[in-house]
Amino acid sequence: MTITKPPHGAPCNGCGYCCEEELCPLASMLFRRVEGPCPALQPDRDRRICGLMANPGQYAPVRAFVVGTKALSDAASVLIGVGVGCDAQTEDEPYNKAFGQRLRREFSRNADRVNRALIAWGFPPLPR
Ligand code: SF4
Ligand code: SF4
Repeated sequence: MTITKPPHGAPCNGCGYCCEEELCPLASMLFRRVEGPCPALQPDRDRRICGLMANPGQYAPVRAFVVGTKALSDAASVLIGVGVGCDAQTEDEPYNKAFGQRLRREFSRNADRVNRALIAWGFPPLPR
């Protein structure tokens, strides 16, 4: 890790800590494991970027062919929570309660979008 992880709830700075430690739900379903590092984590100068968003066809060529690379990338951005902030916590880091509440609100507000993104990746939608 070349960039220091920001506090829980702060804007994501692309440090890559979360994806080194544990796979996100999308990666867990795709690669069928939870232990990091994520095989889709890619270097980008001193930052790390998500390969499922940057280059989904490399990891899911059939889905990219079926729904298109752009649609798959957009769906990945929804499922990995681009723009929501840093949702990872180190062991000695306090939980940002206000951030957690905002995440839950946004998740329920965007449930349809999340389900469309899951379907684009070939996974079943969340149960209602
Ligand atoms: S979510 Fe947090 S830990 Fe993960 S890359 Fe962004 S800043 Fe780093
Ligand atoms: S799929 Fe992307 S966001 Fe998820 S763990 Fe891998 S690199 Fe991180």
